[in-house]
Amino acid sequence: MTGYRYGVHWLAFVVDGPSEEAFVLYDLFFRDLFGSLQGMGHGGRGFQEIWYSLLGFKVYVHPSQGEMEYFHFEIPGQACELIHWQILQALDDLLRHNYPERYHYTRLDCAFDDVPFSPAEVEAAITSGHVRSLAKRESMRVYKSPFEPRENGELGTYTVDFGSRKSERMMRVYNRRGFTRLELELKDRRADLVAKEILGSSDICDWGAIAIGHLQDFVSFQTEWWDEFVLEVGRAWATVTTPREISEARTTAWLRRQVSPALSVIHDIGPDNFLEILIREGRVRRQRGNRYELLLSGKQGSLDDSEGQNVRGGTSMEDHGVRDGTWQWCLHCERAYKAGEHREVGGLEMCPYESCSGDTVMDPWPWKRIREIHPGYPEEPERGKVYALYLRKG
Ligand SMILES: [Zn+2]
Repeated sequence: MTGYRYGVHWLAFVVDGPSEEAFVLYDLFFRDLFGSLQGMGHGGRGFQEIWYSLLGFKVYVHPSQGEMEYFHFEIPGQACELIHWQILQALDDLLRHNYPERYHYTRLDCAFDDVPFSPAEVEAAITSGHVRSLAKRESMRVYKSPFEPRENGELGTYTVDFGSRKSERMMRVYNRRGFTRLELELKDRRADLVAKEILGSSDICDWGAIAIGHLQDFVSFQTEWWDEFVLEVGRAWATVTTPREISEARTTAWLRRQVSPALSVIHDIGPDNFLEILIREGRVRRQRGNRYELLLSGKQGSLDDSEGQNVRGGTSMEDHGVRDGTWQWCLHCERAYKAGEHREVGGLEMCPYESCSGDTVMDPWPWKRIREIHPGYPEEPERGKVYALYLRKG
């Protein structure tokens, strides 16, 4: 019994709505974690503009063709894994209320880490026919790099893909991270169906079971290790690092690996204060682009207030503050109350309004932020009054 962990590894969705609402959604749910969106300066994938933030998070706006306004969010693997599941649930909740029938998921990857079998065992089972699946045997692809180190230092990486790339379902089993990970990649209608089911479930404990159910719809193996896996109860993975920490770690690793030998030579033979000059030069040069803006934001050492014209500004959660007594707004019942107020239900702090299912941790948004979307709402909200978060104009 290894006790696998599971989570959402990739999420993409399309919403029928004006581009401005894409930025509102981003700011509400993701800006605190990934920083402000930056313009790429070009379009792609049928959109005129692409905006991005840390770890490859992308927002596509202004479709190149047609009259319809819609936008597309793409949250790739590493970024997705850092988002707390309650944020994804709250996002789905808002989409369901504000865009009923007007949003759909286009990709969802469910990942299971530390499963009790290896890619080699999966390959052997498919080869020997101990598999039941709609996918054909010839859709199996195997990639082996016997001398490539895994993330845990062991030698040799092994990946088994099963299922046609063109179909709506594919399975990938690999050990690059050290342990074996199984990913169920879902696209289009299938992604929409499963994502809505998973994100709409009230309890994270249901996620694993729902995802395993859909996995077994697609594939099952007549082996002991498979029986062990599907009978086991996994747990949701915890999000421990932030996108900024990962980006900083990557940049530091690159400096160590690629830059340090050359730098040490010049430091030893060159002018005395070369390092100082280099850093001063770098501070000036980095202002010409916004490449490091997201790493710098919120850190000491930033020279400017990021007035780059391609940066979508705004204030962050820190600026709003959630001190007791400040007004906040409940995502579930859309009413305002003051931070600190709550109703205790079974040891949990819930929204103070009777019968509301929202809690006081994930569901309240700063009232100030609601007013950024609805400048017409009063500075002091009325108690008990519903302030709808309709994102659509008119
Ligand atoms: Zn509420």
